[in-house]
Amino acid sequence: MTLKGEKSVLITENDRTAVPIQRDFSSILQFKEKKSITDLDLRNKKVLVRVDFNVPLDEYGNITDSRRIRMTLPTIHYLLNENCKIILLSHLGRPDGKIKDAFRTDPIYKRLKEYLPFVNVDKADDCVGPEVERMVSKMKRGEILVLENPRFHPNEKKCDPEFSKQLSDLADVYVTDAFATAHRRHASTYGVCPFFKEKGYGFLMEKELKFLSNCLNKPKRPFTIILGGKKVNDKLDVIKYLLGLADAVLIGGGMAYTFLLAMGYNIGKSIRDLSKLDNIRDYLETARSYNTKIFLPRDVVVCDELDYPSEIKNVPITEIRDNHVGVDIGEETIEYYKKVLSKSSQVVWQGPLGVFERKEFENGTKEIARHLIENEIYTVIGGGDSAAAFEKFGFQDDVSFISTGGGASLEIMKGTLLPAIACLTDK
Ligand code: AMP
Repeated sequence: MTLKGEKSVLITENDRTAVPIQRDFSSILQFKEKKSITDLDLRNKKVLVRVDFNVPLDEYGNITDSRRIRMTLPTIHYLLNENCKIILLSHLGRPDGKIKDAFRTDPIYKRLKEYLPFVNVDKADDCVGPEVERMVSKMKRGEILVLENPRFHPNEKKCDPEFSKQLSDLADVYVTDAFATAHRRHASTYGVCPFFKEKGYGFLMEKELKFLSNCLNKPKRPFTIILGGKKVNDKLDVIKYLLGLADAVLIGGGMAYTFLLAMGYNIGKSIRDLSKLDNIRDYLETARSYNTKIFLPRDVVVCDELDYPSEIKNVPITEIRDNHVGVDIGEETIEYYKKVLSKSSQVVWQGPLGVFERKEFENGTKEIARHLIENEIYTVIGGGDSAAAFEKFGFQDDVSFISTGGGASLEIMKGTLLPAIACLTDK
């Protein structure tokens, strides 16, 4: 199966045998049956809000991208208007159940004070315990308390019921806006829910779920998925699930080399996942009988050494040598992929097409991003490193939607039910 109307770029030989199938994405629609923030009685209440302010920090602990904080401001303002006492809870980084100063939520607290200059914002040194309870009991309506990182407690990741109960005892109502952590069954994202009678999702969560559910349940066709990045495993499950739903899958990034290897090409010293070769061969075979066309690079940018390259060049995939490391899609592939994208009505993009962090290897990701924007192609960026790439290029405001959650949106694309949504109150 090919994109409709495209003959020259896309292979059409399988059209006659294409098997139309429809993947079931009803799981993502589950949120429509759950209470949203506007369905909850919040007036004058104490509200525990689980947010995902797991923002990138530089070596001095300064926030380098505060999008995740800015995107929850509508929820915070709504709660302020409802005269609530707002208790904000977010993890930060991976402190592995221990108190580590580098992962304290102080930078988040400071940034929030900047965004909300007329609001009284305070910060606690823990997220449970007598001192936190005392601070909560002293809160006035319209005030905000930022709690300390729940991942300082090993019980957070263990989803310990006692720890969940302690967290839930701080408030009357629970609101989750932590889309980026919604696929995790942790105490603060999932374990707290049974202890609250009233619990619903906030505006950021709603926005995220609406964009992805529209793309997956009612795709505007032709629907193209761009998959890059280096983790093949994650993305293969997406391909498996989306075969038959997407019209085209464009593959790039580090994961492309495992595909090329599976097809018998020499990939030199490029990144690979040998455990996935058989799965890839199966998917390529299956894709032929479904409505999905999988595209692989025709040429790539290679270098001799990733850290200090003395040679960088563009080569066809048939000319990758033993000493080559593949780092980006090549010029011909960029043009080829642009043609497929020009015919697409909707694009979902997960994972950069090259080592975009390095200027020498950013071209493929940047050119494809620019093409989508210039041609106003409806595009949803699935968070993670593809979102970071759009930020790096300064394109973040020009694309239809950038998700705040790479892992969560990948899970949705695999058809997984999000535990943090499943546990909310039914309407
Ligand atoms: P992922 O988390 O799987 O989406 O991977 C994102 C990472 O993949 C980014 O840090 C990119 O630098 C990296 N990446 C993209 N292309 C390549 C490549 N050809 N070789 C190695 N890493 C790559």
